[in-house]
Amino acid sequence: QHASHSIDKYLYSMRFSDDTLKDIMNRFRREMENGLGRDTNPTATVKMLPTFVRSIPDGSEKGDFIALDLGGSNFRILRVKVTQDKKQPVQMESQVYDTPDDIIHGSGSRLFDHVADCLSDFMEKQKIKDKKLPVGFTFSFPCAQSKLDEAVLLTWTKKFKASGVEGMDVVKLLNKAIKKRGDYEADIMAVVNDTVGTMMTCGFDDQRCEVGIIIGTGTNASYMEELRHIDLVEGDEGRMCINTEWGAFGDNGSLEDIRTEFDREIDRGSINPGKQLFEKMASGMYMGELVRLILVKMAKEGLLFEGRITPELLTKGKIETKHVSAIEKTKEGLKKCMEILTRLGVEPSDEDCLAVQHVCTIVSFRSANLIASTLGGILARLKENKGVARLRTTVVFFKRGYARRLHKTVRRLIPDSDVRFLLSESGSAKGAAMVTAVAYRLTEQARQIQQTMAEFRLSKAQLLEVKKRMRVEIERGLKKETHKEATVKMLPTFVRSTPDGTENGDFLALDLGGTNFRVLLVKIRSGKRRSVEMHNKIYAIPIEVMQGTGEELFDHIVHCISDFLDYMGMKSARLPLGFTFSFPCHQTSLDAGILVTWTKGFKATDCEGEDVVELLRDAIKRKEEFELDVVAIVNDTVGTMMTCAYEEPTCEVGLIAGTGSNACYMEETKNIEIVEGNEGRMCVNMEWGAFGDNGCLDDIRTQYDQAVDENSLNEGKQRYEKMCSGMYLGEIVRQILIDLTKRGYLFRGQISETLKTRGIFETKFLSQIESDRLALLQVRAILQQLGLDSTCDDSIIVKEVCGTVSRRAAQICGAGMAAVVDKIRENRGLDHLDITVGVDGTLYKLHPHFSRIFQQTVKELATKCDVNFLLSEDGSGKGAALITAVGCRQRELEAQQH
Ligand code: ADP
Ligand code: MG
Repeated sequence: QHASHSIDKYLYSMRFSDDTLKDIMNRFRREMENGLGRDTNPTATVKMLPTFVRSIPDGSEKGDFIALDLGGSNFRILRVKVTQDKKQPVQMESQVYDTPDDIIHGSGSRLFDHVADCLSDFMEKQKIKDKKLPVGFTFSFPCAQSKLDEAVLLTWTKKFKASGVEGMDVVKLLNKAIKKRGDYEADIMAVVNDTVGTMMTCGFDDQRCEVGIIIGTGTNASYMEELRHIDLVEGDEGRMCINTEWGAFGDNGSLEDIRTEFDREIDRGSINPGKQLFEKMASGMYMGELVRLILVKMAKEGLLFEGRITPELLTKGKIETKHVSAIEKTKEGLKKCMEILTRLGVEPSDEDCLAVQHVCTIVSFRSANLIASTLGGILARLKENKGVARLRTTVVFFKRGYARRLHKTVRRLIPDSDVRFLLSESGSAKGAAMVTAVAYRLTEQARQIQQTMAEFRLSKAQLLEVKKRMRVEIERGLKKETHKEATVKMLPTFVRSTPDGTENGDFLALDLGGTNFRVLLVKIRSGKRRSVEMHNKIYAIPIEVMQGTGEELFDHIVHCISDFLDYMGMKSARLPLGFTFSFPCHQTSLDAGILVTWTKGFKATDCEGEDVVELLRDAIKRKEEFELDVVAIVNDTVGTMMTCAYEEPTCEVGLIAGTGSNACYMEETKNIEIVEGNEGRMCVNMEWGAFGDNGCLDDIRTQYDQAVDENSLNEGKQRYEKMCSGMYLGEIVRQILIDLTKRGYLFRGQISETLKTRGIFETKFLSQIESDRLALLQVRAILQQLGLDSTCDDSIIVKEVCGTVSRRAAQICGAGMAAVVDKIRENRGLDHLDITVGVDGTLYKLHPHFSRIFQQTVKELATKCDVNFLLSEDGSGKGAALITAVGCRQRELEAQQH
């Protein structure tokens, strides 16, 4: 008791209060920031080296790998087999090779020849000399990396000092040595530091592993940093493992106040004075020496061994780190201490042994405390990076006996944290193999994913082919003989002209077939004070009405109109009505339309083959509450075109890119063979969504498009629409994600219930995910919202899938439009056409890239046309009223003529 008390006083400067530890932690945090910053890095002591390790193992790795481990106490070579076997996913065989001092202090080429020789021997014994296996290289010295398989040695540390290696890429040096031998090949895929290796060993067991620390011969740590904070590496999405090289902490003098005379003496006697000052206070290599120097001084002052000082005690290295650990043990420690001190010839008393044991404890406690404060610095950063109130993480470390001490101190330094400490049993070489396995998996995965995505990436030739085929189908729809079996129906709308500004009056409009059902009152005023004023009300159509009987559907519609007229107080006026009905209809006049087929989400019975205007009139009659003059049945594409044409007379095309996809344009009446007359033009509702229903797009449709089709309400129909409209893009994405997951490239191969749910991937999520302003973390948050637990890599892949699917959608839609404008140009015998397309649809309006890619495609595929795009404001409401107005005018004209 007495002895320990006096030693406490004596070694006062080696014991730190929590305040001091926090202070050290904060100093280290500043050093980390300096290392990460572009301007501060060159002079930073804590180098914060990027490792180009971006992912931790996810459990889907497999293969046969070799790992080299150079820089620890042994040089080891391992063969690591990674399988999908649940019980024993990683099998290892290893061999230790000697690295004699004359080699590690000799020339660099001799060192690497030696490594190549040992590898040859190992492969010989493993009978794999004929194979070119992927190799991971644990090289535990500070290196500058610009990619995973390149590492330029900055400086030797620990006891290594081979000449001509500093400043060189060790992968090149090793490859050269292997080539020189010429008896085998190796594919060095990754160089990692031992801390990185350590961190990576456990990724299999614990996905939260994001810090690795080494407290062995040297000390160092690595952790996963946000790429956006790493100035020296391009890109800001995702994370990368940073090798802190924290051993050099203090080399700029920042730890002077806590260094003791013993630390200074150790540094003076080392092979790298002034360097790795933190390491020299905390790592295993120096523990024994520290204790010895303390004992010498104490003996000199007569505090120990009655002042006896022997030559052994004065000899460097006579007390080793393993002795310190042995002495520290509570049970046999004292006996061990007696043995060791006796060997030094100092004739220790029991009291001496107790005192020396206490010295050992203080020295190793200091080491643990120092490491706890730097580790605390890393954890504080992780916590801040994640922006969480409580940090949950796992630290892998490589040295037994430290965890408890570290844990206690770390808990005090970072109170809001649950930190799990995991001992890496197998050491860093396995980690190198895991890094290699991950690299190998990612390479292979990237290849497979790109192959899948490639099916969606259409060449210009393919797009021109789509345009050409659309043109063929347009002709088939227009021609009398082929119209019946044509897929692109080219339905006449009996809209013969666009508005001229003289339209005037109050009109009612209905909008059915979009996302909402609406009733509108539209007041159009002509002349000087030309204006359009609209009032509308949105009504829900319950799914059971959408998919119930036709009578129920139309009764519901009339019920809504009745409510609206009450609301507007206009029940007695017999208003002209335009009915926007966004489904394919065979029209024989402006106010007669036979429903060809339901599309999108509708499926009411007894409607297909019926005139929907009659169905509406019948329902109004049944209600017996009000009268209306149904003037026109309007497709939303036509409404869109008319709305834009009201503002811009060159608008003669309408496009919808919303829930569905469709277009209309002004065709020469003479070309519409099923309509009588050869004069003038008429708007044709193309119903191009059905393009491809005869199989003409099968060569560009993927298995995912087929799956979406099979899962839809109308299998085999609307194949083009299913590749490019809002209702289906998310489903295509979901099908791809399911497949990639099945193949093990996503979500750790686990298909969640969420992913199996139809419709979860609404197109608005595509818009969000693809937004350029979104960081990857936010993509993950969106996926999280959807119930998809994703890693950073997952989110990169998901984003790419979304981008690829929506790009194809915009492109094939653009190819269709190119066919239309070129046809109009040819109709008019022009070399060059200026035309405006009126566009509506939320996909077009809100998706971050769709409209741009669409427009660009039109431009590239229809080079003789200058196409202007105009967004329509409420085409289905205003447009329907305009058509009704134009219809009324037309009717009056005809009445006058008769
Ligand atoms: P509709 O075509 O039904 O008349 P819209 O033009 O508003 O109506 O399109 C609605 C469709 O747009 C939705 O079914 C959905 O597929 C898609 N959508 C909704 N929000 C977005 C968004 N933010 N980005 C892209 N597409 C969207
Ligand atoms: Mg719409």
